[in-house]
Amino acid sequence: MHGAGTPMFDEELAQLAEQHLQRELRLIESAPEPVVILNGRPVIVMASNDYLGLATHPLLKKAAKEATDLYGVGAGASRLVSGTLPPHLELEAAIARFKETEASLVFGSGYLANLGLIPSLIGPGGLILADRLCHASLLDGCRLSGAAFRRYRHRDLGHLAFLLAARPGRRKTLIVTDGVFSMDGDLAPLPELLDLADRYEAQVLVDDAHGTGVMGREGRGTLEHFGIESRLPFHMGTLSKALGTCGAYVAGPATLIRYLVNRARSFIYTTAPPPSAAAAALAALAVVRSDQARRARLWANQQRFQAGLRSLGFTLPDTQSPILPVLIGDPEKAVALAERLLQLRVYAPAIRPPTVPRGSSRIRTTVTSEHTDDQLDQVLASFKQAGQELALI
Ligand SMILES: *Cc1c(COP(=O)(O)O)cnc(C)c1O
Repeated sequence: MHGAGTPMFDEELAQLAEQHLQRELRLIESAPEPVVILNGRPVIVMASNDYLGLATHPLLKKAAKEATDLYGVGAGASRLVSGTLPPHLELEAAIARFKETEASLVFGSGYLANLGLIPSLIGPGGLILADRLCHASLLDGCRLSGAAFRRYRHRDLGHLAFLLAARPGRRKTLIVTDGVFSMDGDLAPLPELLDLADRYEAQVLVDDAHGTGVMGREGRGTLEHFGIESRLPFHMGTLSKALGTCGAYVAGPATLIRYLVNRARSFIYTTAPPPSAAAAALAALAVVRSDQARRARLWANQQRFQAGLRSLGFTLPDTQSPILPVLIGDPEKAVALAERLLQLRVYAPAIRPPTVPRGSSRIRTTVTSEHTDDQLDQVLASFKQAGQELALI
């Protein structure tokens, strides 16, 4: 076979395995619903970011099929090269309405949006201050920008203020944070963070990947949750989590959007998402607006499952979202717990460094609106059994 015998890779992989940090793909042979078929057995998934169950929603599937019939399965090229299709424009108009901004721009993924957006906002000579637990795509976007880059302690505005005050001169500054932190489920202290940014004349980029569709009364996101939508001229979020599809958006003033069309390399030099994905995301926005009961079910599940885990004696951080991490610490123990849970028909993977800081390996669980009470009780029973067997509780 081509490429057989690559000792360099073998050695590094063996090292990862020794440290219990090797990652493996697991095949799921069914739609990503709460119960899936894994290795031929049904297991309850506690790991999906499809918080509202929209990835399998009939209206989204219908929209994707209709767009495929009308426009085919691929966009053909970058939208600047081969032209833009109606689903992408309709989606951007709907996102702008939903977010109450002048305009929006859709990217192929959240990762790509951050790689394109951050270097468009700031470059060499500027300074970026980012929360230590920011998503990897934000960090990569920061590095790509060529700006000086410092990280402040997680949600620590005292540390952020210290770094802002220590800036030489009036250096252009961008503060970067997740709205909902993807591995801890806690929220950035946005109102106070914006006060600081105002005081020091810094720009703020909020990545609301996990807030969009979930947080706020209408599901508009973490900015709505805090009532600060009018204070932030722009932000980004994804279509890949609660909206159940793929892609991401930047929502903001029309001039920023026109600027990004001209400057964001991850928009310009990549093929547009398929029309079916854009049409499905458009349908997802309609469901988020019309079906408030889904969000109510999600929050009821979040409370039920969180209370259950805490009463078993597990430690969770100060989560305020459907992300409910069970803190373990040691990667070997986290992997052992995940393996035992899987035998007990619960799929909730161990998250280890470098995704999370050393010493904070965990089982990251998520709930969705589609988990039934019965399923959540089964999962809690499995956590109890596995936790006791491994002497974690
Ligand atoms: C998932 C995630 C992304 C990446 O989004 P994709 O659409 O999956 O590429 C970016 N930022 C945050 C905070 C995320 O959680």
